[in-house]
Amino acid sequence: MKKHNFYAGPSILPEYTIKNTAEAVLNFAGTGLSVMEVSHRGKEFVAVMDEARALFKEILDIPQGYEVLFLGGGASTQFCMVPYNLLNKKAAYLNTGAWASKAQKEAHLFGEVVEVASSKDANYNYIPKGFSVPEDADYLHITTNNTIYGTEIKEDLDVNVPLVADMSSDIFSRPVDVSKYALIYGGAQKNLAPAGVAFVVVKTDILGKVDRPIPTMLDYRTHVEKGSMFNTPPVLPVFAALQTLKWLKQQGGVAEMQKRNREKAALLYDEIDRNKLFKATVTNHEDRSLMNICFVMNEEYADLEKEFLDFATQRGMVGIKGHRSVGGFRASTYNALPIESVKALVEVMQEFERKH
Ligand code: PMP
Repeated sequence: MKKHNFYAGPSILPEYTIKNTAEAVLNFAGTGLSVMEVSHRGKEFVAVMDEARALFKEILDIPQGYEVLFLGGGASTQFCMVPYNLLNKKAAYLNTGAWASKAQKEAHLFGEVVEVASSKDANYNYIPKGFSVPEDADYLHITTNNTIYGTEIKEDLDVNVPLVADMSSDIFSRPVDVSKYALIYGGAQKNLAPAGVAFVVVKTDILGKVDRPIPTMLDYRTHVEKGSMFNTPPVLPVFAALQTLKWLKQQGGVAEMQKRNREKAALLYDEIDRNKLFKATVTNHEDRSLMNICFVMNEEYADLEKEFLDFATQRGMVGIKGHRSVGGFRASTYNALPIESVKALVEVMQEFERKH
């Protein structure tokens, strides 16, 4: 039976990425060796790193003055690297979920933190708007897509201070005006690569402005100067990321991804809104994530939750159980998920409705 992969992360990757990576695990670039057993300083891998950086810039249309880094430690290490490198006195954070709040927690180690707004009171089921940002903040940190709660900031905000964004779960899902950001980061394990590498897009002129000493490994300047090769980079995930970047380019880039993601999300949200058994947890349409679509049973059908999960699982749906802090279901519809998988889920929801 065909499996439809709705996992939130690690999650579905393009078949192109998986096949090319599998081949390189056996024989990398004609070396007769596995990509897992070659020197990261050999010319074959240096070429991979260079091409990955260049394609990342090309696909996201990154202007001059920015560098792309591939680092270990996941997005969670960026929660501390951002304030370590950028927070002099005060930083502003928008609290839109558990990850946003974890990022904010780290900043307290380095200075004053102003929470400009929070949707915690409503279990993070909306994106706060109309907040003001202190003019003397060193930066505003946002999480563009809230993987757990299924909300998303789908436009690039205009703010009066440098903007820092965690784009772990929506990178490459839409065009981004990178010039509006001082720094963008994320873990790669959703739209880009297997777990093990984080990406950072940094405007280099914002670095070097804090007074504190920074440990070498946690200083962005180290990695800018050494082209992400200061220490051994996550070789296999970077190789896989390059394959996804090539796939993205072949498919028509981020504008095409946005078009497909909008179609997939519309199909599923429409069914959730129509089907008498289900309801979406995010009611503001503009805040609904195109990447993580969260829904629960309607109150009068609450006792059918387990039955629906089993019913859907038996029909090939994988990874649709919601995060424990929201409950219900979450279907993640990342770039690599084909619309056929969304159609299959919609059919399962309709079949289940007919049964009840
Ligand atoms: N930010 C967001 C929005 C996430 O979804 C996640 C992980 N799912 C993280 C940060 C943490 O990423 P990592 O596990 O790579 O540290």
